[in-house]
Amino acid sequence: MSTIEYRLPQKRALVTPLPGPKSAELTERRRAAVAAGVGSSVPVYAADADGGVIVDVDGNSLIDMGSGIAVTNVGASDPKVAAAVAAQASRFTHTCFMVTPYESYIQVAEELAALTPGDHEKRTVLFNSGAEAVENAIKVARLATGRDAVVAFDHAYHGRTNLTMALTAKSMPYKTNFGPFAPEVYRMPMSYPFRDQPGLTGEQAARRAITQIEKQIGAESLAAIIIEPIQGEGGFIVPAEGFLPTLVEWARENGVVFIADEVQSGFARTGDWFACDAEGIVPDIITMAKGIAGGMPLSAITGRADLLDKVHPGGLGGTYGGNPVACAAALAAIDSMREYDLPGRARHIGEVATTRLLALAEEVPAIGEVRGRGAMLAVELVEPGTGEPDAALTKDIAARALEQGVILLTCGTYGNVIRLLPPLVIGDELLDDALTVIENAIRAAV
Ligand SMILES: *Cc1c(COP(=O)(O)O)cnc(C)c1O
Repeated sequence: MSTIEYRLPQKRALVTPLPGPKSAELTERRRAAVAAGVGSSVPVYAADADGGVIVDVDGNSLIDMGSGIAVTNVGASDPKVAAAVAAQASRFTHTCFMVTPYESYIQVAEELAALTPGDHEKRTVLFNSGAEAVENAIKVARLATGRDAVVAFDHAYHGRTNLTMALTAKSMPYKTNFGPFAPEVYRMPMSYPFRDQPGLTGEQAARRAITQIEKQIGAESLAAIIIEPIQGEGGFIVPAEGFLPTLVEWARENGVVFIADEVQSGFARTGDWFACDAEGIVPDIITMAKGIAGGMPLSAITGRADLLDKVHPGGLGGTYGGNPVACAAALAAIDSMREYDLPGRARHIGEVATTRLLALAEEVPAIGEVRGRGAMLAVELVEPGTGEPDAALTKDIAARALEQGVILLTCGTYGNVIRLLPPLVIGDELLDDALTVIENAIRAAV
């Protein structure tokens, strides 16, 4: 395992109040040019980023606890990724794999076959975004089974295109007034240990969903079950142990395609290559994006060869899918994940952060739960006594953290979860500093 070297000083340093004057000016220009429907978590504009820091246009050095939503697991300017991108761009940026194919697409497919759970024969298709991967996984499942229905879960997030909006649970902001939605999508209860009745086991929670599936849809009409093994936007919900294996087993017995959406949880984030690995479940198809290519837009589905090869030639693809610059970036990013043992780093980050957050939870009754796995960690905030979600407090904590130079994301169906998704290459000192800022923000806000 090699030591990580940084280009920028790994330090939190504020030289202006946030946002600084240059960021404020960009916000003004943006208002007149960029549609209001695109939001940004923080009003500071990036100029440079490396390791665990993002330097803004005013020269402030902020600690990145979001990784651009779990994307820059290897950092935002990993030297290997940067060199691979430059080298590939100087040769060819595009030929279209469906016109004149190239080797790097095949290499990425070979890597994904080796890294994803299960040692069965696998096939891969590459796309550009997570939503596109999810759409295509459903296309394959429907064609391969000849069935229409798809099951998704409470708190699920699968994207913003029409089919993936239908699969996504939360209305505001993802779905409100954007319908009509794609049909034949059914929503089932998730295993959510913090909010389920106490003592409900993972297997019981799965049976609860399976009973509803059998009553409301019928296995013979069901093409696929799609689920995030650890839910992302819905609140970093980790289902009770046994929930996922029970669903997988039922799907297998009933010829239903089990799709694990690992767009957010994949690529070393949870301390394994994929979140499925923790309970040893093997999905029929896995969707991947975010962390796959060090920040370049790339997504993939990898799945059972007998399912994917059922699709007729030309049925899957897209102009840019598996772009050669993005493929070069993915190969370099995967190389860095191995070289720096980023699954190991994620476990280390998880131990350090969980220890401190659990200690804080002892002293702060508004912390309902600290949960997650590896470097995909969350704090759910509630009103003490009632356990009601406290979204206002959550927002306040993120604002206070930003004021001190820490970019902290929130999530959750009820908007009451702060999530920690640092780049896995973040150094220990910077991580400690970020955690101190977060602890102080929580203490000050409650
Ligand atoms: C982000 C995300 C998506 C959508 O990915 P995009 O690249 O934004 O289209 C799908 N599924 C999960 C679990 C995600 O976190």
